[in-house]
Amino acid sequence: MLITLLDLEREPLEFNLDIFPKSIDYGPEIEQEGPLHVAGRADLLEEHRGARQVVEDIRVQAEYAGKVKIACARCLEPVEHRLGGEFDLIFRPLGIEEIGDDHSISASETEIGYYQKSGLVLEDVVREQVLLSLPARTLCRQDCKGLCPRCGQNLNTGACACDTAPADPRWSALSDLRSRMKP
Ligand SMILES: [Zn+2]
Ligand SMILES: [Zn+2]
Repeated sequence: MLITLLDLEREPLEFNLDIFPKSIDYGPEIEQEGPLHVAGRADLLEEHRGARQVVEDIRVQAEYAGKVKIACARCLEPVEHRLGGEFDLIFRPLGIEEIGDDHSISASETEIGYYQKSGLVLEDVVREQVLLSLPARTLCRQDCKGLCPRCGQNLNTGACACDTAPADPRWSALSDLRSRMKP
């Protein structure tokens, strides 16, 4: 959903929608499960800078709820994770900081986002918030054994033969080669 200044100049925008799986790309390790519900509002915020300059910011307040599957950091099996949160963010027109004045970004403003001339895509905002909310590392269980680094077998579902096998086939190929090279 595109939020445009034109919309907001008329009146604040209220939204209540379901974002369907695959409409947001969270990267290869995260997949949305079922609809992600997002409800909230967008307002136009006039920021007065000095006597003449007025910057039109977009403020978005919303809450979201849904579910994702995240690949386990060790065995890559999908792990279900519930999403739920709210945000209240301010977006400035992209490029505004370059326009004149000696305005410098203070610490509290570093989290401010920017919107393009065409407007602000709500899905992009939600994507960012969802990614920020996720744990740094997800494991299917605390003692996940992970994958065998040699054959890729998921060691939670059973041991592989690597420990007992005499040698990696690549090494035996090399030793074959050596034996053939002997005079
Ligand atoms: Zn795992
Ligand atoms: Zn193995």
